[in-house]
Amino acid sequence: MAKKIKRKSRKVTRITPEQKANLKCEYIVEYRKGTKWNQRPEATYRYMSCKVCGQMEVVSETATAVTCHECVNEMVAAPTYTKRRISSGRPAGWHFMAEYVDKDGNVFHKGVEKPKLKGTKEPSKIEKKKKISKIERSKMISTANAKVHRLKKELAKAKLKKDVKRLKREIAKNQKIGSGKIPRSMRYKQNNLDKS
Ligand SMILES: [Zn+2]
Repeated sequence: MAKKIKRKSRKVTRITPEQKANLKCEYIVEYRKGTKWNQRPEATYRYMSCKVCGQMEVVSETATAVTCHECVNEMVAAPTYTKRRISSGRPAGWHFMAEYVDKDGNVFHKGVEKPKLKGTKEPSKIEKKKKISKIERSKMISTANAKVHRLKKELAKAKLKKDVKRLKREIAKNQKIGSGKIPRSMRYKQNNLDKS
């Protein structure tokens, strides 16, 4: 009996290899429950102090040192997407177009440059999509809200599962519009251009 108790008490004081590694680590190690949007609240995450600035950053179980995302940002050059945005005077989706000719006469077929055709074609004219007006936008919102009201009434009466499903989906969609979040497909004027 006495032996058993002894063993038990020894077990409590024993530290795991992970804890040993954490104690040896020259940076602060902490385990925290998930709080961020991309973390599970019930899970525990290992944090370590950044070796440059000291702020806590999520690390893997085996990490022995970390440089936080902010310090990495400072070390590397500005992200390249700003560069790309500035240099490209091409319209959105140009590389999906069967043929696109830029203002210098470079010809692209589905985004692939055709050097032999350079200068043989007129630059593509891109119709700028017109945004819907403020009045149209507020009209869209109020119609959506009226629709939600009507659909909710319908939902209260609906019996079939498929009807309930459909109504719920439509309500969600219209509620989103009603709150001012207009889907991308509805933000622009429907242009009746006949491409002949
Ligand atoms: Zn840092």
